[in-house]
Amino acid sequence: MNDVETTKPGGAQTVHAAGVSIKDLRKSYGSNEVLKGISLEVKPGEVVCLIGPSGSGKSTLLRCVNLLEQPNQGAIHVGGFEATDPDVDIDKMRRKVGMVFQQFNLFPHLDVLRNCTVAQTKVLKRSQAEADKIAQANLDRVGLGHLAKRFPDQLSGGQQQRVAIARALSMNPELMLFDEPTSALDPETVGDVLAVMRKLAREGMTMLVVTHEMAFAREVADRVVFMDGGVVVEEGVAERVIGAPQQPRTQEFLRRVL
Ligand code: ADP
Ligand code: MG
Repeated sequence: MNDVETTKPGGAQTVHAAGVSIKDLRKSYGSNEVLKGISLEVKPGEVVCLIGPSGSGKSTLLRCVNLLEQPNQGAIHVGGFEATDPDVDIDKMRRKVGMVFQQFNLFPHLDVLRNCTVAQTKVLKRSQAEADKIAQANLDRVGLGHLAKRFPDQLSGGQQQRVAIARALSMNPELMLFDEPTSALDPETVGDVLAVMRKLAREGMTMLVVTHEMAFAREVADRVVFMDGGVVVEEGVAERVIGAPQQPRTQEFLRRVL
């Protein structure tokens, strides 16, 4: 086993112990190999931003981490679980992982609070009262405690995305995966979502974030990984990868997005 099972001492109320370790991951759709041997590590408490052009395999990589896609080859460890072990308890493993997508996928017929309690009661078998309490605390955490009784269509896109984050947090994940969480938002609501993510990062949450927000990546990421064509082209601290990229493909990508 690698070092991802370490637990932070001190009895903090939130312990984010899960890391991710990916070794030589390959994934094809038919004859189209979209991940061509990716190795990547996110240590417990670390924030890694994944950047790269559209079609480079970023979403596929994230989806492999919680087995929404089945890898063809390679090894993935998430917390104490080997995701690529055929005998892995997928449900148990997924409970460690929160995922936030570009589309928030809230239940339109449920109010904000219920959106944050359904999985708690169904999957974790928490009582409704306990789930309500946890959901309310996480809505407060993302600054939306006062909107618990609203319905999704009464919220801005940014508010809906913050609800989606609160919903994920209500499952007490040890790792959060974000796939372009601000790409579908009106520009004026992007900042609030990034602020919530920044706060989570400061609290020590382990995060793997696909984003086009280079200023965010530069400020928040411990490391930045640039992917293109299904391979990791360059990785390192944000200041170097975004500020002084070495590889021509990274330089060209950044010229286009900055
Ligand atoms: P990114 O998130 O970096 O834009 P994706 O991981 O979404 O890239 O896609 C990488 C490649 O895999 C693309 O060429 C895309 O068309 C292909 N792809 C993604 N999902 C599927 C799928 N379910 N079936 C077939 N091809 C797919
Ligand atoms: Mg994508």
